[in-house]
Formats: sequence, C-alpha cells, structure tokens
Amino acid sequence: MEKTKVAIVGLGTVGSGVARLLLDHGDRTARHAGRVLWLEKAVVRDLGKPRDCDLPAGVLTDDIEEVVRDPEIKVVAQLIGGLEPERTYMLRLLESGKDIVTANKALLAEHGAELFDRARELGRSIAFEASVAGGVPIIANLSQCLSANQVLSIHAILNGTSNFILTQMHEEGGGYAEALAEAQGLGYAEADPAMDVDGSDAAQKLAILAHLAFGARVHWRDIPRSGIDSLDAEDVRLAKEMGYRIKLLAVAELVDEGLELYVSPTLIRAGRPLAEVAGSFNAIRVDADAVGRLMFSGRGAGQMPTASAVVADLIDTAVGRTGITFRTLELWSHRTARVAPNDFAAARGRFYLRCMVEDHPGVLSKVTAVLGKEDISIASVLQPEPVEGSSVVPLVIMTHRTTEGAAARACAQLAAMPSLKSAPVRMRVRD
Ligand code: NAP
Repeated sequence: MEKTKVAIVGLGTVGSGVARLLLDHGDRTARHAGRVLWLEKAVVRDLGKPRDCDLPAGVLTDDIEEVVRDPEIKVVAQLIGGLEPERTYMLRLLESGKDIVTANKALLAEHGAELFDRARELGRSIAFEASVAGGVPIIANLSQCLSANQVLSIHAILNGTSNFILTQMHEEGGGYAEALAEAQGLGYAEADPAMDVDGSDAAQKLAILAHLAFGARVHWRDIPRSGIDSLDAEDVRLAKEMGYRIKLLAVAELVDEGLELYVSPTLIRAGRPLAEVAGSFNAIRVDADAVGRLMFSGRGAGQMPTASAVVADLIDTAVGRTGITFRTLELWSHRTARVAPNDFAAARGRFYLRCMVEDHPGVLSKVTAVLGKEDISIASVLQPEPVEGSSVVPLVIMTHRTTEGAAARACAQLAAMPSLKSAPVRMRVRD
C-alpha cells in the first residue's frame, strides 16, 4: 500500500493522542486514506520526558530541522500551542513543501491571514478542524457539507471550561471561585484560565466560524465580549428560579444591517437544547436557509476528541481533499469581506437586569422611569422578600426586546442612582 510520511511537532496532550491513533489504529486510517499514514518524526522540546505513547526507535527528536529537511515528509501536525515558535515553524514547514494540520485557534485568530496567504502562494494547505470545538466536526460542516446554504445564524457554547463552571454553579449552587477550583482540579481549566473565562477563547473561535459561515473578516479582539469571571452565584440562583440557565453564548447572526457578533453570558430557557449542554461539552446550533436548524454537540477538548479531529485532517490532507477545499474557499484571502459586523449598540435583544436596591417605597418607580426614558419596556419584575435584617433586596427586571445601546445607557443611569447599592448586572436573554 502507498505510504504518506507524516510528522507531529509537539507531543503533549493532543500530540500523543494523535501518535496513538496513527500507531495503534494504522489499519483504520489506512482504510479511510487508501494509504498508510506513516509517523516518521515527532518533535518535542525535552527528549527525556516520559511520553503517553510508545514510539518506534528513531521517531522522537528535538530538532525541527529533521522534519524541515526531509522531503518525504508531506504533512505535519503542529501541536505545540501559543504563537511562537508555532508561527515561525509553520512558515518554515510550508516553505519546505509540507501541508499543515493545526489545532491552534489562538495562532489562526492572530496570524491566520498571513499564514493562509503564504500557504496559498506556496500551493500548500492548512487544515484546522481541531481548532474550534475539539472533536466536534464543525469546520468540515461549515466549509463543505453546508455549502448549498446561506448560514443565517450560529449560536454556540465554545468554551468547555466556562460551561463546566456554569454547570457546577447551577447544579451545586456554589460560587464562581469554588467551581473554577474544581475545574482546575479536574484538569478542565488551565493554571491561567483568564482567556477561557473572560470570553476571549470563545471570541477567537467565533471569529473563525464567522469567517467560514459568513465570509466575515473580523479580528477576535473586535468582537464585543464579556465572560463569566464576574458572575455572581445570586444571578445563577435567580435565573434558575425564573426557569433559565446561564450559558456563555457566542453568537454570529445575519441581521438587516450586517452581522451581529458577540460573546456574552446569556440566560437560555431551561429545556432548550443549548441550555441543557452540560459540563465541559461544546455545542453549536446552526440555522441555514435550505437545511434549517442543525445542532452539533460533543467534547470540545481533551486528548482523544481533539486527536480525532487532527487525524481526520491528516487523512483529508494526505488524500488531497483539504488542498481542494483550501484553494476553493480562499480562506482569509485579501478578497473583500462578504459581510461586515454591525454596530453593536444597535444589536437587539431581551435583557436580564438585576439591581441591588434599598427596600424603600418608590425605588421601583424610579428604576422603571429610567428604563422608560430609554424606551425599554418591561416583560416581568421579580423582587424577593428581603432577608431578615437586610435593607437591600435584589430587583430583577426582564425586558422586552430593546437595543444593547439603550440597555447600556439605562444601566449607566441606574448605577448613578443613590438607592442602588451596586452597579446593575446585565445579561442577554434568549427564549
Ligand atoms: P501541551 O500538552 O502543552 O503539549 C505541547 C507540546 O509541544 C509538548 O510536547 C512540548 O514538548 C512541545 N513543545 C513546546 N515547545 C516546543 C518547541 N519549541 N519545539 C518542539 N516542541 C515543543 O499542549 P496540548 O494541550 O497538546 O495543545 C496543543 C495544541 O492543541 C494547542 O494549540 C492547543 O490550543 C490545541 N488544543 C488543545 C486541546 C486540548 O484538549 N489539550 C483541545 C483543542 C485544541 P515537551 O513535551 O518536550 O515539553
């Protein structure tokens, strides 16, 4: 049988999973690729470190040049992580004639345009299924299987760490810090989880999906985003009482004015499929004009789910499918964007507002007067009885549809009111 030599650069969590699939299930990959995917080299930093896979003699190296110089290695899975040396290695490998498979969404979100342009100039390809939602095959679906459609919207849970924390807060009733510590203990959260919990990781992935689905060229830093890092257990409790679950939702939706893009903690009505996505799972709901609604869900990270996506990309690249798609789609090319992000202040939606107010007569009417001034109409009000001995109570208002701009202006005015004990909490609501 024909043999395609491949290399792995970075043999950590994902890299070892890829090596295990290639070495332990070569028959399976050969059947799908019509050729043997032969693991020729695996590049690491520290040759002395114990590995999670048994490599044949001569495969492990700490010298990337052994891959660069070998013209028989055709495809390289780059699995180091971070921006450098990943970017420099990728350019060097492309220039030496290799096609690339990557799981590195941070690198693509930051340097995608440069890397994709260079790959095109050189007649090479970059496959990146594992970079968004790990084992969930959303890239292939958006770039190939749904090509007869105009995608209308994407609503997605793209960060497993945040979703795990939110699930714990909902189910156990504890606070954010406690749930984060549990996520770290179970290996779901990095030692520095900042980008997972502040919405940045989800924004990086949303930028990639929005590019594939809508042809939008948007830098992830320009996507309005808020995370769950300041979420109060009180809001989780109140949302639950009202029949909702809070999820960190990444949204890309076509509206009359363009493309609405944001990442935000959002109240979703319990029982809706996205509200029920639990633990470290990811989910992506796609609405498209011909096919209707689709729901993808599964493990968005972890060794074998991510390796599953990487090896599928290795197979597709080895047989030439990736090259065809890559050339046809012209991803991140300098062509004009097909659709531009709209003004976020004009984005419409319902909101959850929680104000901590003094339990005095007349406060409710002052709050509603502020909302009225911004033309925000109220759908419901919840004011639990005060806890004994406290003169401050939560006042929760669910609004009808309004704009981000009006809601933000109203919250700024409410924050300045003496009868409010802290700035109001504002979250999106999706029924
Ligand atoms: P990891 O466990 O930290 O492994 C990184 C590997 O890269 C290690 O084997 C390390 O070598 C090697 N490395 C670091 N610097 C190197 C250098 N200069 N030259 C050669 N090798 C070097 O990372 P990971 O979790 O597998 O993640 C890899 C990529 O997949 C990242 O882009 C990540 O965002 C993405 N991803 C990961 C997951 C997941 O669940 N882990 C899910 C989706 C996407 P040593 O072992 O010798 O230190």
